[in-house]
Amino acid sequence: MAPLKYKRVLLKLSGEALAGEHKTGIDPETVDAVCRELGAVLEMGVEMALVIGGGNIFRGLSGSAKGMERSSADYMGMLATVLNALAVQDMLEKHGHPTRVLSAITMQEVCEPFIRRRALRHMEKGRVVICAAGTGNPYFTTDTTAALRGMELKCDAIIKATKVDGIYDKDPTQHADAVKYTSLSYDETLARHLGVMDATAFALVRDNNVPIIVCRMFGGDIRRVLLGEGVGTIVH
Ligand code: UDP
Repeated sequence: MAPLKYKRVLLKLSGEALAGEHKTGIDPETVDAVCRELGAVLEMGVEMALVIGGGNIFRGLSGSAKGMERSSADYMGMLATVLNALAVQDMLEKHGHPTRVLSAITMQEVCEPFIRRRALRHMEKGRVVICAAGTGNPYFTTDTTAALRGMELKCDAIIKATKVDGIYDKDPTQHADAVKYTSLSYDETLARHLGVMDATAFALVRDNNVPIIVCRMFGGDIRRVLLGEGVGTIVH
């Protein structure tokens, strides 16, 4: 097996990654495709924690924009991430990969509570740790969760798997002349207003020197990132 550049990673997927063409809800075929891609990566022997957003089901900000109390709306968003976590757990296990869902909001009939030492032990045993319910606190996002868990779990990098293959100077879906960066410093990313993560999440990774790699979800790019083949964009 080729040597891994990153032995333990935190992989962040947005909720939309599970929604398929409809952009909302959970599409089983899309979840299957995502889990096949993750399976190929897990077979490389990497230790993986996953943070999955909830935007395909509910976002706190949109709830509060329609008049809901923000904290209530955010709790709904956090619960949405649990649905996504359970969908991915089910499919990863169908593909033969042991997983544990660890939730920041306790729901003992459904999944384990997030306990850092337990999460580390699961990863050492080759189980994928799916971190559900965000940070457990309203007013945060799953990007912040990714930053927080990535640091707590001593991950070598945070990988944001997205529809696009890296960070561009402008939106590549709107501008044919958009240029992709291969590497950026934290300061350059801020100075150029490149929205890699929200400000709270970005401040955390920057203060603690955790590299973020943005790459495509599909097409074997996560695998190439782990092998250090220079795909995607690294912010460090
Ligand atoms: N959320 C929260 N605290 C957290 C993480 C998430 O309140 O620590 C809520 C927030 O309302 C957010 C929703 O959960 O809108 C879903 O997460 P996010 O929007 O980050 O999902 P994504 O855009 O990645 O699918």
